[in-house]
Amino acid sequence: MHLKPKKRLGQNFLVDQNIQRKIVDFCQIEPKDTLLEIGAGRGELTRLLARKTRKIFALEIDKKLCALLKENLKGTAAVIICADILKFNLREYFQGFSEIKVVGNLPYYITTEIILHLLKFPDIISEILITVQKEFAQRITAAPGCVQASSISYFVHYFSQPQPLFNIKKGSFWPKPEVDSSFFRLTLKKKLPLDKKEEKILFKLIRAGFNQRRKVLKNALKGIVSSQRLSRYFQKYNIDENVRAEKLTLEDFMRLVRFGV
Ligand code: SAM
Repeated sequence: MHLKPKKRLGQNFLVDQNIQRKIVDFCQIEPKDTLLEIGAGRGELTRLLARKTRKIFALEIDKKLCALLKENLKGTAAVIICADILKFNLREYFQGFSEIKVVGNLPYYITTEIILHLLKFPDIISEILITVQKEFAQRITAAPGCVQASSISYFVHYFSQPQPLFNIKKGSFWPKPEVDSSFFRLTLKKKLPLDKKEEKILFKLIRAGFNQRRKVLKNALKGIVSSQRLSRYFQKYNIDENVRAEKLTLEDFMRLVRFGV
């Protein structure tokens, strides 16, 4: 069956078999592991992953590709789930599971949404091993407080420990995308430093700070934190009054939450 790749679904298939094998090696899969592959595509990576464990679920949104996957992966351990990862009820489907390793060459048009979605399930997922556009990977794994960081770097570092693994040339994909990619690991934190209420405030502050990242923080946070309180916080932690959000580390933002807003 020959299917034309759908650009709107981010279908750039990884066709370089050396890179496929390299990804599987870096996933360090043991036979006891449960895997969930997101965006299984034509199932080339799935087939290699399925040789390493008997518990592998391959999720794909495209109905035609799901039919192809069922055909291509007959006789392997892979269970095909035809669904949109953002609408799929992971908690219900994987009831009783823990420590799932998520693997995926993510569709670039919803990379952020998928990562933020998966980070909400530390009780089910232990690691996320993904391929994304190189620049995006650099932004995500950049330490909060450094130049490349954006608000998503703070979310990712709050919920997980990111580890860049290797880069992949654009020529390894078909159709060839505009840019190179990177493969990296996010190890989800089982214990988080703030409670749910504090977390909400943390993300509100980070979002507000980065929505207007050209503004100094005290202006970007107007209406959320009183200027007097913010001044006291700056004084206490020896932070410049005219600091911008991008200069604050995750720890700085968490201190602000604990300081009280
Ligand atoms: N894993 C294959 C590979 O490496 O060649 C395909 C990767 S391709 C970059 C991304 C895949 O994700 C496509 O097959 C696409 O149809 C699928 N996809 C796109 N949006 C999705 C969604 N919301 N939920 C699940 N899969 C999705």
